[in-house]
Amino acid sequence: MNPVEIIRKKRDGGKLSAIEINYFIENSSKEIIPDYQITAFLMATYFQGMDAEETGYLTKAMIDSGEQIRFSDSIDRVDKHSTGGVGDKVSIVLAPMVAALGVEVPMIAGRGLGHTGGTLDKLEGIPGFQVRLDRTKFLSCLHKVGTVIAGQTENFVPADKLLYSLRDVTATVECVPLITASILSKKSAEGISALVMDIKVGNGAFMKNIKQAERLAKSIVQTGKKLGLKIRALITDMNQPLGNKVGNTLEIIECLELLNGSGPQDLKDLTVELGAQMLVLVKKASALSAARSMCKKALTDGSAHSVFLKMCKEQGASESFLKNPLQCLNSKLAKNTLEVLAPKSGLIQKIDTEKLGYLLIELGGGRTKVSDPIDHGVGFELFVKIGSKIKKGEPLVRVYFNHKPSGILESFEKCFLLGPATGKVPALELIKKVIE
Ligand code: URA
Repeated sequence: MNPVEIIRKKRDGGKLSAIEINYFIENSSKEIIPDYQITAFLMATYFQGMDAEETGYLTKAMIDSGEQIRFSDSIDRVDKHSTGGVGDKVSIVLAPMVAALGVEVPMIAGRGLGHTGGTLDKLEGIPGFQVRLDRTKFLSCLHKVGTVIAGQTENFVPADKLLYSLRDVTATVECVPLITASILSKKSAEGISALVMDIKVGNGAFMKNIKQAERLAKSIVQTGKKLGLKIRALITDMNQPLGNKVGNTLEIIECLELLNGSGPQDLKDLTVELGAQMLVLVKKASALSAARSMCKKALTDGSAHSVFLKMCKEQGASESFLKNPLQCLNSKLAKNTLEVLAPKSGLIQKIDTEKLGYLLIELGGGRTKVSDPIDHGVGFELFVKIGSKIKKGEPLVRVYFNHKPSGILESFEKCFLLGPATGKVPALELIKKVIE
């Protein structure tokens, strides 16, 4: 087989066979096919797309490129994956919450991507917390605690590592079949039998409109089913940050608030809804209403909190954190804070969420390239959401910083569009659609 022929076939809109896709992915992973041919293949796929069958072949070929976790029993294990947003810390509460309800959650999570934050970066805000676990440690933590959240190891879906790094630098990230294969190859290799997808839509998401989000949701659900997964996708709002705190340590603090039975309503609602969908998928609850009650109870009776601390202990969190998590995290926050004040009275009509994500990177809380170090202590806390009324001079946001990039406060102010106080803002729907 000749890689040029495969690229040409895709370039001209042809349909690739399983054999052709397997050949291409296998030999790319073995570094037999050079990067310039792989990127040509990616660009041809970006323009010509892939049908559902080809997307399935691609996902399967990527799964087969490396080591997979396969359990010998037939117990249902479930995971959730988000396509990424700003302030999206759901996984850190959700995994312990679902585990507390008796369902194992093995979670391979990612780092920040573009303007969106990453679960692994947030967890590394906990002193001592290890996200680089080998297979044995990953499994022992899962069995002891009921959940584990870690990063990809070297030989875990190497085809995705390679393709993703090339897509990142060749403008081929935003492509439904490539995103589908990338996400599902990693999720399927975890050994789960069920998956709930959180497809973010809005100005802080990669999918800016509902049509794009639906296309991705349908592709992932269809392909996931072909792989034998019990799967459903929720399309959820990302037109404002989720919760009130953004920044790695700040977000862990907000997770602890939720695990202590308080926390912001939108974060709680989404965590409960995703958890309920997970419980119903694995038949731990027969109806969503009962499943929601179970999740709410786990958040208020201390059981999710206790699993979270067990996971932290098992993954190496420091004694000082385990003894008093909030005190420990508060001591790690950047010492300098400034409030950005409303320039006039009015109603918050719009929040530029993507811009807020990039401002966190400017503060040092995210990366512009993989090798960049992260300042976990910086971030910001929102005092308003869309629809909030505010008076001139009241704080919009409190910024935590160690160094202050010039003009940053003005940039924060510009992220909030204020309309007349007498106006009306249509309420945002947090959960827009469920695709089964
Ligand atoms: N997240 C992934 O893991 N892969 C993609 O392609 C996009 C988001």
